[in-house]
Amino acid sequence: MSDCLFCGVIKGDVKGSIVYQDNSVVAFKDINPKAPVHLLIVPRKHIATLLDLQQEDKSLIGDIFSVANQLAKDQGIAKDGFRVVVNCGAGAGQSVFHIHFHLLGGRPMTWPPG
Ligand code: AMP
Ligand code: ZN
Repeated sequence: MSDCLFCGVIKGDVKGSIVYQDNSVVAFKDINPKAPVHLLIVPRKHIATLLDLQQEDKSLIGDIFSVANQLAKDQGIAKDGFRVVVNCGAGAGQSVFHIHFHLLGGRPMTWPPG
């Protein structure tokens, strides 16, 4: 999608610190990190929100969690615990409408989130 920020990061038009990419998934550093490790894991396919997922996207979501598993280990946050968060809709704090999975770790997490 031409006016989408994260499509721009994926294409390389918008500067981003990409830490992982494959045919279907890209992960990059959050520009405003909320934890010592804060990555955004996104599908290359433009999907606006969790509510826009289709049946055909099922394996893609599996791929994303598989990447989260690997990155948590690679980033050294697996042992102490980490969080994967999807904000869906403006009321939940979603500000970029290309679905993304926050991978957060490296500090204690509180519950419930604010
Ligand atoms: P959300 O509020 O769940 O939509 O999350 C959007 C996230 O994107 C926020 O944590 C922002 O800090 C992050 N963000 C915004 N612009 C960029 C960018 N150009 N590169 C990396 N992260 C970004
Ligand atoms: Zn997009």
